[in-house]
Amino acid sequence: MQENNISSPGKAGFWRCMSGVLCSVALTCGSFQLFAADTVLFDQLINQLDNGDLVFTDRAAIDDFMKQLKAAVPVNDPQRQLRLKREQCSADFYDRPDQGIVYANQFLHDTSLNQDMVSLTHFYLCRAYHHSNKNQLIEQDADLQQAVALAARSEDPLTKAQALSYYAELRSSRGEHADALVLLFEAHQLYKKLGNRYGIGASVENIAISFRRMGEYDKALEYLELSEKEFAAPGDKYRLGFLLQQKAFVYGETGKPEVARQLLERTKLLYQQIGEPLYAIATDVDLMWVANQQERYSESLELSAKIDQQLLQYQQQGGGEKVVNAELFVLYQAEALAGTGKIAEALEKFTEAAQLISALENPRYSMWLHRSWSKALAQSGDFNRAYQQLLQAKNLEDELNSLAKKQRESLLRYQFDTELKDEKNSQLKAENQLTAQQLQVLESAQRWQYIAIALFIILALIALFYAISQIQRNRLLHRLAMTDELTQVANRRSILWFAAQVRQQAQDNRQNWCLLLIDIDYFKQCNDNYGHDAGDQVLVQTAAMLKHQLRIQDRIGRTGGEEFLVVLPNTDLAGATEVAELLRLSVNALRFNGYPQIQISISIGVTQAGRQEDVREVMSRADAGLYQAKANGRNRVIVS
Ligand code: GH3
Ligand code: MG
Ligand code: MG
Repeated sequence: MQENNISSPGKAGFWRCMSGVLCSVALTCGSFQLFAADTVLFDQLINQLDNGDLVFTDRAAIDDFMKQLKAAVPVNDPQRQLRLKREQCSADFYDRPDQGIVYANQFLHDTSLNQDMVSLTHFYLCRAYHHSNKNQLIEQDADLQQAVALAARSEDPLTKAQALSYYAELRSSRGEHADALVLLFEAHQLYKKLGNRYGIGASVENIAISFRRMGEYDKALEYLELSEKEFAAPGDKYRLGFLLQQKAFVYGETGKPEVARQLLERTKLLYQQIGEPLYAIATDVDLMWVANQQERYSESLELSAKIDQQLLQYQQQGGGEKVVNAELFVLYQAEALAGTGKIAEALEKFTEAAQLISALENPRYSMWLHRSWSKALAQSGDFNRAYQQLLQAKNLEDELNSLAKKQRESLLRYQFDTELKDEKNSQLKAENQLTAQQLQVLESAQRWQYIAIALFIILALIALFYAISQIQRNRLLHRLAMTDELTQVANRRSILWFAAQVRQQAQDNRQNWCLLLIDIDYFKQCNDNYGHDAGDQVLVQTAAMLKHQLRIQDRIGRTGGEEFLVVLPNTDLAGATEVAELLRLSVNALRFNGYPQIQISISIGVTQAGRQEDVREVMSRADAGLYQAKANGRNRVIVS
């Protein structure tokens, strides 16, 4: 039976670190040169502490660090002052729990800290630590629960991890290993996320301790070795001592006291080297446990006397009052006394140990006590009480075994659930990744689609514009092809084509249609007298006027120089003659814009188309009429 006896820092050695200071490490040892208020330096030191980057090689390094911190803190900076006080709460009072509690109380009653969850959490943790050194378990429990709740509200991962770790220790010491391990796994995850090397290592070690207390020794060693190999910074003597001691416990508890003794001797030497007399004394208590196991009771009693002497010396030199796990020390003394035949003294010590241990609610310590006590009572001949003690030991053992079984089951379930959760999480993550990838693909596909659509629209618009302009061009060409350039009435081809259409329609509908062939009289003279341009204007304005006189269904075309053909659909000869006369008179009355002195007349051949006649035949008859009109003196209409 053995437990870590070091009372400080951390009751069960679980907590070599209360605040960060006692935990860590010695990047900086002996290298603190500046002793003046220096905000940058202060923040740098605190950061190193919080990041778990510091390695303290010995007590002097810790003291130097604290000195450095105190010197660096600016006077009028309440935030940093408070941060320093957090560290002082555990570092300055690590072996003076009463004073530590008073110190923590100042801050816990300070209402200005009501919103500062991180600081409050740390002062609760600090007070819990001091309570644990005084074996005030109810107060410790209350403070730790408060710390865990506040840490959760603080949403500061480091504070959360620290509170969870400290609370786990209490649960573990009470035999609630599964709960402790769950808390430790959570803390471990937080430290891992933070990349806090010290915290990662510490939580791995704490996990190892819980496994050891459950009787899972292989796992305990595995975790201890993992921590030693992976997380112990070179020069971290505190961690090395702790690991040696924990290994010793494993070997001691698994029936290898000789290995345990060697490891503990090394531990003790180390603690002496780094200037930690308390730790060295506590290791002597562990060595008493090993000696008792090997039934080397005289040696154990010698150790006991040495411990008493060393404690006295320590306190005389100004050390604090709280040093070792007194309950185990007294128990080992009782065992040694019984072993050396000093039964009466031994029984007294057992009674004393029983009082101390009953305050701890630690079923393992109680079981050890009852077993040894029973042995001593049997030795004294008090078989009845010996039997009672043995029965209690047996009951506790059964209880612990069934508890351990339950813990293992619930732990397995937790591990299984966690793995399942991890599995689900990674599955979900994979799915999310896949979905994200698909979305990305879809998005880029969509982007390309948009681009394609945009391109298509642009191309379609270009095509449309092109088509429209083609149509317009064709129309223009068509119009140009069908229109007389000068007069803008139909050209010869166009008017003949129209005449053919009218002829066809007239044939189909048995309608009459007529032609007027018009020629300007003496036009050559007009040109000669007024110039070619004037002639052109006469042509243009005459054509426009003639067109204007006609009905919508009629059409006029220019068939030659100053000669026009008018097609009159659905019109008989009388109607056509009437139109011709109207046109002739209109031309007579026409005055030309820009050429007021010009006056012209026209001669017109009028004819009605016969039913079967083609356009050329009708044309030539109209021409004959026109010829006759010219011959008859011009400016007249001749029907032919
Ligand atoms: P008539 O009464 O017998 O028809 O006599 P005319 O002078 O009108 O007939 P002629 O055939 O001898 O002359 C026609 C003239 O029309 C000849 C030509 O110079 C002129 N002419 C033909 N086309 C154009 C044109 O586009 N512009 C102009 N200014 N003159 C043209
Ligand atoms: Mg002519
Ligand atoms: Mg003429």
